[in-house]
Amino acid sequence: MLPGLYIHVPFCRSKCPYCAFYSIPSSSLIPIWLDGLKKEALLYKGQFDRFDSLYIGGGTPTFLSRRTLAGMMEHLFTHFDFAPDSEITIEANPCDLSDDKIRMLRELGFNRVSLGVQSFDDAVLRCMGRRHTAEEAKKALARLRLFGFDNVGVDLIYGLEEQSLKEWIDTLNCALSFHPEHISCYELTLEKKTVFGRLQQEGKIQPLSEEDGRSYFLTTSQVLTESGYIHYEISNFARNHACRSRHNRKYWQHVPYLGLGPSAHSFLQRDRWWNVRSVREYCAALGKGLPPVKGRETLTDEQLRLESLALGLRIREGVDLRHIASAPQSGTTLSRMEAAGLVKVMDGRIIPTEEGFLVADHLPVCFFP
Ligand code: SF4
Repeated sequence: MLPGLYIHVPFCRSKCPYCAFYSIPSSSLIPIWLDGLKKEALLYKGQFDRFDSLYIGGGTPTFLSRRTLAGMMEHLFTHFDFAPDSEITIEANPCDLSDDKIRMLRELGFNRVSLGVQSFDDAVLRCMGRRHTAEEAKKALARLRLFGFDNVGVDLIYGLEEQSLKEWIDTLNCALSFHPEHISCYELTLEKKTVFGRLQQEGKIQPLSEEDGRSYFLTTSQVLTESGYIHYEISNFARNHACRSRHNRKYWQHVPYLGLGPSAHSFLQRDRWWNVRSVREYCAALGKGLPPVKGRETLTDEQLRLESLALGLRIREGVDLRHIASAPQSGTTLSRMEAAGLVKVMDGRIIPTEEGFLVADHLPVCFFP
């Protein structure tokens, strides 16, 4: 796989109470952000080989005007090299997708849309502070098909107290009725610096219990795999191998990626660096000709190996057995894991099962305590 390019658009029309991503519910800083982004892109010109994926995420990229999106895309295509068959994704909010906007996305070269649906139940959407309705999401999905998008992803979230397992299954079935190429299903996490996180601290809302989380996870996997989807990463399902997110797979396989924009992360060979979060700080650094980098690290061989193991145990492709060769008692540990139904060993690789996905964060520690 060739390297991937990620652009962080830190703007949303409103802030959802569960969201911990860096985004501002305002458009006033968009012009200086775009100016900064263009400068930052120039700093990395020639440092990465040709890209074969571009992912515009956020925030809400479809909140940007035609002029801003066109200016950004033109700059990226002018200064970076992309393979002809590149996967070019934009994250979209259903209520932004008018006919004109979708037509514009196609004209700008996007060939994949990741739609933030979250739920097909209006009561759940209201609790999540989403600004779209279930009907708007359905119309957006239908419209994307009408305008020729044949690679569409649907993002869904479960775990709200107001939600029931039945409603979640209805949401999954509604998503399936549109035959999306990709479905992501995330458990709601109550992050500290969010409105929901505060409500949890005040004892007003609770996260899913471990038992319920397990039940939602396994039900999700069952419903989607029975409909023919591949459960190829803990939270991600694809209609077939070709429909897996090319861009996101790079994050899990140590393929180089460049992230531009506030809070974006990058990885090249064994170096990782990440940008400042604040748009103003980001622009101020670039105004002085400096990279807006907040921190960086260089991974040792040991760290690379451990990280590859941890990442590999989160994807269906699994990880080469060589990654545990130096682990103390690797054979015994592996046998125990197999007996517990957490992994399978096939063709020299350790492959996590659904049960293994559930405890993926703990698996590497079993090999390297
Ligand atoms: S969840 Fe999406 S739309 Fe909501 S605030 Fe976060 S980035 Fe914006």
